[in-house]
Amino acid sequence: MAVIIPSNGPEAPSANAADTSKLSFAALGLIPELTRAVVDQGYLEPTPIQVKAIPAILQRRDVMGAAQTGTGKTAGFALPLLQLLAPHANTSLSPARHQVHVLILTPTRELAAQVEESVRTYSKYLPLRSAVVYGGIDIDPQMKVLHAGVEILVATPGRLLDHLHQKSVNLSRVQFLVLDEADRMLDMGFIPDIKRILAVLPPRRQNLLFSATFPDEVRRLAKELLHSPVTIEVAPRNTPPDLVSHQVYLVPALRKRALLAHLVRSRDMRQVLVFVRMKRDANRLARQVQQDGIAATAIHSDRTQPERMQALEEFKQGKVTVLVATDVAARGLDIVELPFVVNYELPHTPEDYVHRIGRTARAGLPGEAISLVSPDELKYLEDIERMLKRKLPRASAPALESEGRPAHRARGAKHERGGQRPQPKPQPVPRSSPSTFDYTKPYEPAPSSGAARTDASLAGHRKPGRPTAALLGGGPAKREPRK
Ligand code: AMP
Repeated sequence: MAVIIPSNGPEAPSANAADTSKLSFAALGLIPELTRAVVDQGYLEPTPIQVKAIPAILQRRDVMGAAQTGTGKTAGFALPLLQLLAPHANTSLSPARHQVHVLILTPTRELAAQVEESVRTYSKYLPLRSAVVYGGIDIDPQMKVLHAGVEILVATPGRLLDHLHQKSVNLSRVQFLVLDEADRMLDMGFIPDIKRILAVLPPRRQNLLFSATFPDEVRRLAKELLHSPVTIEVAPRNTPPDLVSHQVYLVPALRKRALLAHLVRSRDMRQVLVFVRMKRDANRLARQVQQDGIAATAIHSDRTQPERMQALEEFKQGKVTVLVATDVAARGLDIVELPFVVNYELPHTPEDYVHRIGRTARAGLPGEAISLVSPDELKYLEDIERMLKRKLPRASAPALESEGRPAHRARGAKHERGGQRPQPKPQPVPRSSPSTFDYTKPYEPAPSSGAARTDASLAGHRKPGRPTAALLGGGPAKREPRK
């Protein structure tokens, strides 16, 4: 049975947990104003990336962090930066007393907003000001905020350049630069913008770069930007791919609903995470699955935190069999022993496929990733297969009598929880050559202690997954398709 343990950190206790798990935030050297703020957040102990990043940043080291969103990396950099800014904290109304000292660049506005919210949360006991600027909305209100003065500015590159052109922001006092999700910045074509921004920053500053992956261009950027960086690697909560079996059903879109209901019943699925791309579709599918007699609920970023927590709690308790999720909403989820992930729709980026299947086959147990692929999605399937460097096994969809035939009872009511897990036939994903980045490989923490290293190499071998027991309210790491 899947276990979801509420919010005790976004990461499983790491391989290094033995040496780090007893550490408190105070033991990492954080001041009481910050430790109080994290206690208010309900954080019991620092996550592995925090254990490594906080002291390094406090020691004024540049950092190259190999970590995804969901690892607690935002607090990992925000807390020590706030501490380094504490001497500047003041309640003066004069803009001159509130200069931008920290600049945090992120690829998407969602991430920018999320990071700034975290900064605000962690700085609640310090008189420091933060602001977020991103495109797609009126620039004037942002200009007013900037004119009033802020110490910490979170921005997407394009909008920050707009502000620089309008002279609404002065970056000449920046002492700390954070590039968050550098690989996504690269994907989104932001590297030239970033270089333009770097050109107006004071050359003497502390630089922190975080990226989930390290393609050559990000490595080059890191090399230019970082001086003798401390390299911090945190294994993403990823799946040992060998334990995930993949199954593809080629099926017309209109038959997916019936096929899903059929699979849940015929495979005796008791806990299945079903992915769709759009929030609207998450709600609709959950309703349809309910109509088909299977207990279901949905989780996506439009739902409030209490609603999301409730949906997860119901899933955890086995009151619902099917949890329909969007990619963004599922980023913050860590569910132990989840046997099935169904891609009701394929994601449009292959990396999301890996993130999705990473929700199953945890704790060393096998898991199954089933994709319902309609003809218009074949191109996404090809992308995924190209990335995985293998073809995924196809199964033909069974002929079903009727669509959405109601069952007699809801699944959650019918089965006792905790029965035997179905035994999938694993279809191992082979390790691929390292010539291109292999998304199937989690980062491996440093070999022995996992302590921060100072070499720039991020290569490593995969480690088997460990039981993970955390459920977080993880926020969006990227744009979630609307509609
Ligand atoms: P991030 O990787 O920064 O996006 O963080 C993911 C989630 O983890 C956020 O919801 C944070 O509030 C939460 N978080 C960060 N640090 C901790 C911690 N030490 N304990 C529990 N939750 C945490």
